[in-house]
Amino acid sequence: MTIEAKKPAKIIHGTYGGAQLHRKRGEDMCDPCRKAAADYMRQYRRNRPDKYAQQRAVQDARGRALTRLAARHSVEFAAIYEEERGK
Ligand SMILES: [Zn+2]
Repeated sequence: MTIEAKKPAKIIHGTYGGAQLHRKRGEDMCDPCRKAAADYMRQYRRNRPDKYAQQRAVQDARGRALTRLAARHSVEFAAIYEEERGK
């Protein structure tokens, strides 16, 4: 078995998948992808309010945990934050 470099995926703009790839790459989304992501999430919230509320609760808990972690390790957090902003 050989190890090959993974080919970067081609973004199909104006799709939810395209929006996810922009996000994964840390890029700003183009307008068509931003609209596709907003449309997808709007439909998701409408069709699966129970699932959305459950995921929202998980995200909220994660945010609170990260806030507490950042407060406990403020110097390290600030360094990591600046490093990520520079990407
Ligand atoms: Zn795009």
